[in-house]
Amino acid sequence: FQSKLPNVGTNIFTVMSRFAQRHDAVNLSQGFPDYDCSPELIHHVNEAMKKGYNQYSPMSGVKELREEIAKKYEDLYGEKYDSESEITITSGGSEAIFSAISAVVNRGDEVIIFEPAFDLYRPIIELFGGIVKEVILKAPDFKIDWNEVRNLISDKTKLIITNNPGNPSTVTLKESDFEHLNEILKDSNILLLSDEVYEHIVFDGEKFLSAARFPELKERTFIVASFGKLFHITGWKTGYCIAPEWLTNELRKVHQFNVFCVNTPVQYGLAEFLKNKDEYLNLPEFFQHKRGFLMNGLNSTPFKIIKPEGSYFLLADYSEISDLKDTDFAFHLTEKFKVATIPVSAFYKNYTEQKLVRFCFAKKEETMEKALQNLQKLQ
Ligand code: GLN
Repeated sequence: FQSKLPNVGTNIFTVMSRFAQRHDAVNLSQGFPDYDCSPELIHHVNEAMKKGYNQYSPMSGVKELREEIAKKYEDLYGEKYDSESEITITSGGSEAIFSAISAVVNRGDEVIIFEPAFDLYRPIIELFGGIVKEVILKAPDFKIDWNEVRNLISDKTKLIITNNPGNPSTVTLKESDFEHLNEILKDSNILLLSDEVYEHIVFDGEKFLSAARFPELKERTFIVASFGKLFHITGWKTGYCIAPEWLTNELRKVHQFNVFCVNTPVQYGLAEFLKNKDEYLNLPEFFQHKRGFLMNGLNSTPFKIIKPEGSYFLLADYSEISDLKDTDFAFHLTEKFKVATIPVSAFYKNYTEQKLVRFCFAKKEETMEKALQNLQKLQ
């Protein structure tokens, strides 16, 4: 038997979360909140269940939710999307990414990704015979050299995948990045997948730049978003994909035979909850506070922190603490100091020179406090 993905093992988030549990360590590795979502949201979902919304939803998602999403994009970014033909509710951002990639990547097609990259892009591309062309970005600023991107473009390039804000880079794309991107794409047939699952989680008063703000990109872009990150409900696995009709048609061909549809009462609950804009407009403030708490604490340890521009992760350099490789260091830190993190080399195929680990700050202060107390012992 020839494995289709011979190099894929258990993903790093599962590995580290399990290891944290085994060693009774504070888990700042896998990205998920350890606090609950709004009771109001649970109430809306309960109400939907009581009303009998317990059967299949339409394949593309509950109409009311798609309409609320369209409204949100129009209000915030001034961009009109048709809720019938351009918005699809998916089983989390992951399924949207899977469906988008598998719908457009043929054997031999090239896909440009930026490393450090979230771990699922590469295996999905390779599963469908695509060839990954990676651009290596390095700490501390993970700046994109757009000339390098230009040099990677060939007549086989099918897709570019961006992640804004970046997990795990924690940097955001700027206007000038979009100008370069647009210039590269404008006279080509290359598509864009803009992974925006940490949408709104940007700091220091920065404006979040969704690809939806750039009308010239719209005609060729899949935008992927996640309610898990927006409303602290990663376990509900609900997200969506916005794309022009011709791309949405292709995405739905995969979506309908993969999951068919997403669970119904959650979608009704979300449609109701999404009406309250404060719930997501407050996210920068909510997470900036948590970021500050973790940064303050880490400042009195030998970790050198990279100030995150976005997402709910923070990267820290441990070169003053240890010479170990980052994977070994992450295991060591979990076992001996009872704090679990993610080694950043897991997000590169080959690049292992940095000494960086990723902390998640979507955690209660008491959780982070416990971790910080343990890390004080590193002095
Ligand atoms: N997105 C989360 C992270 O980056 C976890 C995803 C997962 O466990 N597959 O940590």
